[in-house]
Amino acid sequence: MSASVTLKQQIITESQKLGIDKIGFTTADDFEELRSSLEAQKAAGHTSGFEHPNIDERLNPTLIFDHPQSIIAIALAYPSRMKQQPKRTGLKRGQFARASWGDDYHHILREKMALLIDRVKDIVGEGNARFEPMVDTGQLIDVAVAHRAGLGFIGKNGLLITEEFGSFVYLGEMITDLKLEPDTPIPCQCGECTRCLDACPVQALLGDGRMNAQRCLSYQTQTKGLMADEFRPKIRNVIYGCDICQVACPFNRGKDFHLHQRMEPDVEKVRPELLPMLKLSNKQFNDRFGQMAGAWRGKKPLQRNAIIALVNLGDVSAVDDLLHVMSQDPRPMIRATAAYAVGRLSRSYETTSRAKVAEQYQKELVSGQEEAFLKEYRRALETIDALK
Ligand code: SF4
Ligand code: SF4
Repeated sequence: MSASVTLKQQIITESQKLGIDKIGFTTADDFEELRSSLEAQKAAGHTSGFEHPNIDERLNPTLIFDHPQSIIAIALAYPSRMKQQPKRTGLKRGQFARASWGDDYHHILREKMALLIDRVKDIVGEGNARFEPMVDTGQLIDVAVAHRAGLGFIGKNGLLITEEFGSFVYLGEMITDLKLEPDTPIPCQCGECTRCLDACPVQALLGDGRMNAQRCLSYQTQTKGLMADEFRPKIRNVIYGCDICQVACPFNRGKDFHLHQRMEPDVEKVRPELLPMLKLSNKQFNDRFGQMAGAWRGKKPLQRNAIIALVNLGDVSAVDDLLHVMSQDPRPMIRATAAYAVGRLSRSYETTSRAKVAEQYQKELVSGQEEAFLKEYRRALETIDALK
């Protein structure tokens, strides 16, 4: 057994002691075979814009690390089912997709990797190894690294699917100058299955593991402007993320691991009452949701989505609060989305609501508001008038 394999075995043992659920190793070779696909996706407008912008750096560890030798990939399994159901309070609730349950996984992964790096430095001696840890906001493509490091295969839904935990895993990777024996990639096991493709409500998946990220509801719930009409009903009551193509996957059947206390969902956070969300101050929002991955874009997208979810749930009791948001909220996009909701939730011709929408429309018009926002008021008025 060579010294490097021994070190690899020691690293695996340390990772297990730290509660890292899966670990794999690959070379620091480039990922140039992905270049044409990445460039085609960018040219087709299929990227979300949340990716690292420099394709060269995404594909070449040598551009971001001095003399890299290996990449260590890790996976942490997260729960897919809640142990509790929320209390019935009479208020409609939204939900966060599973990957946003518990504390923000970026922090959890970074802490695990920092601990593992410390242990490896203890083994090889401080100063004898360098590391660059990263999670999905880093340069490398974590799914591609994890696949090449043997953690699982990439499904037609574009996700890394592990044998033990399905795709309910968070991924992280560390570039290092240690030379470590690489593991063997696992070929795709989807076969003829198309369940994720069939289940995706917006046909975002292209069928070959790639997606049009602009259509993906996970992306759509994270944008900061008005949500396009097409996607509004599709998010149902999910105010952050989307995991429909995970739930549909047979490799996830029965997979539900509760291995990390910090990943346990707080039912009041991941199934929040929607109306109170509209009234949160920044401080209240940060106190309540700030620890979650789903808070990274701030409260505005979540509040917009909460308004849309109220529409999708048909919560007519929300109209008075929505009228208040429409006239009082300082953010034009939120006001316009509230106007949309008032229109959609009005069940009979109602002069008070109509007058308030009309009054707000005039204010927006006079202030030179953007046409896209003005349109929401006009549509709301047309919808209410059609109820006469
Ligand atoms: Fe489709 Fe949702 Fe999967 Fe995105 S996350 S590809 S919208 S099913
Ligand atoms: Fe592959 Fe089927 Fe899972 Fe999609 S649902 S990733 S096609 S196994």
